[in-house]
Amino acid sequence: MFKIAINGVCGRMGARIAALASEDSELKLVAALERSGHPMLGKDVGSISGCGDTGVKITSSLTVHADVLIDFSSPESSVTIADICSKKNIAIVVGTTGLGPQQHEKFQYYSQVIPCLVSPNMSIGVNILFNLVGQVARMVENEFDIEIVETHHRFKKDAPSGTALRLAEKICEATERTMEQDVVYGRNGITGERPANQIGIHAVRSGDVVGDHTVVFGSLGERIEITHKAHTRDTFVRGAIRAAKFIAKKPPGMYCMSDVLQIRSY
Ligand code: NAD
Repeated sequence: MFKIAINGVCGRMGARIAALASEDSELKLVAALERSGHPMLGKDVGSISGCGDTGVKITSSLTVHADVLIDFSSPESSVTIADICSKKNIAIVVGTTGLGPQQHEKFQYYSQVIPCLVSPNMSIGVNILFNLVGQVARMVENEFDIEIVETHHRFKKDAPSGTALRLAEKICEATERTMEQDVVYGRNGITGERPANQIGIHAVRSGDVVGDHTVVFGSLGERIEITHKAHTRDTFVRGAIRAAKFIAKKPPGMYCMSDVLQIRSY
């Protein structure tokens, strides 16, 4: 039995984690955290996750021990809660996106003390896609132009998505490209012809789309498109719960979803 805490529990992801965790016999939810001033503070977490009375109140600080904390909040809050977890010896799974380089460095630092897993996408399909895009990029070399198009719901706060950025990073790692020199974020005006090495990233915000990512490899006369579409947030929630169980009893270190999902690179 793993004791879990959730940070950002009243959010779209946090509430679903609370709901699915309450149905999981291997998990015991012990803390449900929200930002101070949130109107749901003091209420039973069951009132936002629809799972009846749980006896766990929504609070703004972590006062009990947990084996693992799952965070889907904001970049600032993720780092703050990771600092607290490192002092309380609690493993952490971070799904929050929009983290900057300095915030990523902080997680590297905390991973010396506690098990950490930071992933912009917890779905099996996208983690397969992360492996696939580098291979395809290597195969097509500079014959094909590479563009990444992501679509998310209108409430999403960061752009482009963490997943689109990770896809670009994977392509850069697999080829002679760098994020700094070769990635452009949208285009506007007289941009000139497209350099062969360029990776374009485009963010569409529309209605209630859970998350679509397409990597387009386009050449003269043909193109390859690889698309992943998430139908429900529960896909990410299940991945996050699987990740939490995976790292809960692991030694300190930085873990990734490929470890959890046992996705092999070919
Ligand atoms: P949301 O806005 O619905 O929820 C975020 C919650 O965090 C809110 O309830 C907010 O009040 C809370 N929060 C903010 N500051 C806080 C603080 N200081 N302490 C505690 N709680 C705080 O957003 P969401 O759709 O649930 O997404 C949350 C994050 O997860 C986003 O960054 C999103 O991009 C990311 N996300 C990642 C994945 C993945 O698979 N890794 C999947 C979906 C969403």
